[in-house]
Amino acid sequence: MEGPKITVVIRKRPLGKKELARGDQDIVQVKDQATVLLSEIKQKVDLTKYVEQHHFNFDLAFDESVNNEGVYSTAVRPIIEAAFNKAKCTCFAYGQTGSGKTFTMLGDPEANVPGLYLMASYDLFGILQRPEYSNLYVTISFYEIYCGKLFDLLNDRTQLAAQEDAKGNVQIKGLTEKKIQNVQQVMQIIQHGQNSRVTSQNSANSESSRSHALLQINLKQGKLVHGKLSFIDLAGSERGADVRDQDKTTRVDGAEINKSLLALKECIRALDLNKNHTPFRGSKLTLVLKDSLIGNCRTVMIGNISPSSANSEHTLNTLRYADRVK
Ligand code: ADP
Ligand code: MG
Repeated sequence: MEGPKITVVIRKRPLGKKELARGDQDIVQVKDQATVLLSEIKQKVDLTKYVEQHHFNFDLAFDESVNNEGVYSTAVRPIIEAAFNKAKCTCFAYGQTGSGKTFTMLGDPEANVPGLYLMASYDLFGILQRPEYSNLYVTISFYEIYCGKLFDLLNDRTQLAAQEDAKGNVQIKGLTEKKIQNVQQVMQIIQHGQNSRVTSQNSANSESSRSHALLQINLKQGKLVHGKLSFIDLAGSERGADVRDQDKTTRVDGAEINKSLLALKECIRALDLNKNHTPFRGSKLTLVLKDSLIGNCRTVMIGNISPSSANSEHTLNTLRYADRVK
C-alpha cells in the first residue's frame, strides 16, 4: 500500500480577536513543519513566573499562516486517491472547543471559506471522471454521536442503532444514504446536516462541542462499498474531563466522550502496531468506525490547537494525545 497508514498532524490556529484584545500571548511555535514547541507559563508558590517548554515531533505541523487548502493538499489529498484504491480512509479533527476543528472540516460558509469536506468532494468528483472509475457512484451519510447515541443528521435527527452482525460487519440500521452526483449536492447536504446538529440557544458551541459529527462518503459499485472516506469533527476534547461536573447529564456525557477518545487512541495505536486485536468495541465511535480501523485503511489525525496562553493546559493535552496516537 502506498503512503503511511497513519498520519498525525498538528494545526495551530491564529489568535482570535478577543484573545488579542485581552492580551493573551502566543505560546505555540511551529518549527520546520514537524516540530511544535509549547512554552507554558507557570507560577511558583511565591508567585514568580517561569516557562516550561515542551517539544513534540509529528508527521506534519502547520502554523497559523497555513489555510485549509494548505492542510488539505499536504495532509488529506493522499487519502482521497487511496479510497479509489479500495481503502477505508478517515480524517479526524481532534482538539478542545474553539481550537478550529469545525473551521478545518466545514470551513467558514459565511465567509466563503471552504473546508476539507468540500475540497475532498471536488477532488473526488474529479477523479471519478476517469474512465476506469465509470462503474463507481457516490453516496453520503451524515450523523452524530451524542451521549453515546446515534442521530441521523439527514433525517430529522432520527435515533439509530449500530449492530454488529454474525460476520462481524457493523451496520447502522436505517441510516440515510444519499446518492450524489456533484459537489453542489454535497454542499446542500452538508448545510442541511450541519443545521441539524445539536445546538444550544445561548452559546453557539456548548452543545455541538459534546457530539462527534461523522460525514461518510462511500464510493460504491452496485451494492458493494469500493472505498470510503470519513470526516470526523470530534467532540471537544476538554469535555472528556467534564467528569467532575455538578450537572449529571454533563457528567455522564463527559465520561462518554472521555471513553470514546481513549478508545479511538487505542484503536489507532493498534493499527500502527499492526496488532491483530483492535479494541473497537470500547465505544460507540470506534464501533461504527470498525471497518475503517482494521484492514486496508488510512487515518489522518489532525490535532487542532489554540496558540493562546489561556489555553495552555488543553493545548498540552492535545499535543500529548496526538503524540501517543502513533
Ligand atoms: P471548534 O470546532 O474546534 O470548537 P471552531 O472551528 O469553531 O472551533 O473555531 C473557533 C473560532 O476560531 C471560529 O470563529 C473560527 O472561525 C476561528 N478559527 C479557527 N481556526 C481558524 C483558522 N485556521 N484561521 C482563522 N480562523 C480560525
Ligand atoms: Mg466545532
